[in-house]
Amino acid sequence: MHQYIGGERRAASTGESLEVLDPSTDETLETVTLAGPDDVDAAVAAARDAFEEWSRATPLERSTVLARAAALLDERAEDLARLESRQAGKPIRLAREFDVPGTVDNTAFFAGAARRLDGLASGEYSGEHTSSIRREPVGVVGSIAPWNYPLQMAAWKVLPAVAAGNTIVLKPAEITPLSALPFAEAFTEAGAPPGVVNVVTGSGPVAGEHLVAHRDVAMTSFTGSTAVGRRVMATAAATGKRVHLELGGKAPFVVFDDADLEAAVHGAVAATLINAGQDCTAAARAIVHRSVLEEFVRGVADLYAQVRIGPTADEATDLGPLSSRAHQAKVAGMVERARGYATVVCGGAAPTGELARGSYYAPTLVTDVPLGSELWTDEVFGPVLAVVPFDEDDEAIRLANDTEFGLAASAWTRDTYRAGRAGREIAAGCVWVNDHIPIISEMPHGGYKSSGFGKDMSAYSFEDYTAVKHVMHDITGEAHKAWHRTIFTLPG
Ligand code: NAD
Repeated sequence: MHQYIGGERRAASTGESLEVLDPSTDETLETVTLAGPDDVDAAVAAARDAFEEWSRATPLERSTVLARAAALLDERAEDLARLESRQAGKPIRLAREFDVPGTVDNTAFFAGAARRLDGLASGEYSGEHTSSIRREPVGVVGSIAPWNYPLQMAAWKVLPAVAAGNTIVLKPAEITPLSALPFAEAFTEAGAPPGVVNVVTGSGPVAGEHLVAHRDVAMTSFTGSTAVGRRVMATAAATGKRVHLELGGKAPFVVFDDADLEAAVHGAVAATLINAGQDCTAAARAIVHRSVLEEFVRGVADLYAQVRIGPTADEATDLGPLSSRAHQAKVAGMVERARGYATVVCGGAAPTGELARGSYYAPTLVTDVPLGSELWTDEVFGPVLAVVPFDEDDEAIRLANDTEFGLAASAWTRDTYRAGRAGREIAAGCVWVNDHIPIISEMPHGGYKSSGFGKDMSAYSFEDYTAVKHVMHDITGEAHKAWHRTIFTLPG
């Protein structure tokens, strides 16, 4: 049963279902029932019922639940890694070393952060009143997650919300709903009142849309594509609810002529192939100084040729499949069209033989990419790197910013002034210097421009999941306050 509502697993009321496939083999992993509006209503009602108790729990009580949940998730790390690897097509090494430990660490981080939900200064700002600032939970949060990092995205949505005293209904992506369920169950097992964390597994247009439009949902947090994010924002506008959006990316990877080229080449391979390139911060546009362009392209192509493509359960696999056949066709279509206007240096095809059973796609390097072309402007979300040259530093920064997106970027240089300039002038929520991809629980993740707004992870996410309240106490005890004369004067 695949709805987790009020602390219990339930079947969906619709009678409809969807097969969750293993993209390594296209075999069915599990058949999941699809939530309809009635299931979403039940989950929102459970979250609303749990809100009073959970929002009044002390920071220590909330922190204790989160710390226990972190321990439970850690105990189940291997099972979670296998599940995540199979449903999302992740090489088992990635699930074991990145997705699951990242989720456990995030949960532990928010256990600590729950005790540091500080308001600002309190004091006598008017001389006649004491003012204090309270940070209060917003209410029931409705969250919608994408398929690329199902467990981590569930964590990024659930943790700041519940650490701050909100309750939540999470809708995972249709094709990867499985790991969100044991994740949510860990909070109830850890002592959260039933209904604090609920999961509805359903389609975006039905369950997702109903959750966003729901009158009892105070806030929508959404991670996914920019197009759907905009639609979510429009739907949320009808009830005027708070919106938190984490959207697409097209990260620039800028290699200056003084860069450690070996580091840049290795960095580019890691930053394009992580999660088969299905990472919103993945390097997508290499902007490389003309003097090192040839060496960079040769280095990346050489390493791409050594990457081991294979089934996710195999410890030796570097690159697993794309998430689905539909996504494989999308990536392949973009590369095929690019052949008409650019040079495909390597890759550009799905592997044959045994690997034809799954939705694999070879690492692909494309040069001579015209600015304004589809490969330059649109998210591919696959293991595909577009390369363009530059001559002057100003041009490099301009090219880096030549995108509607602004989620992440990197600059590769040994010159501290160039690095400083890139950090300041590239418009993105994260700019790495001499690295690309690492994230940590203490630091915020979130976009600029069409990559959305709002922060995941870190104490900054509390700002998005709390309302700020000013409480003002009169301290004079006087019935006839001096300021009243501005409004009315008594006769005589
Ligand atoms: P998507 O936008 O197609 O779907 C995301 C979620 O929205 C899914 O759960 C889907 O069911 C739901 N949805 C679809 N239509 C809806 C509607 N009308 N109302 C409500 N919900 C609806 O994205 P995807 O293909 O699952 O994920 C890939 C995208 O996510 C990429 O663009 C990627 O860059 C982005 N992403 C961003 C971040 C980030 O932190 N910025 C992280 C991961 C992924």
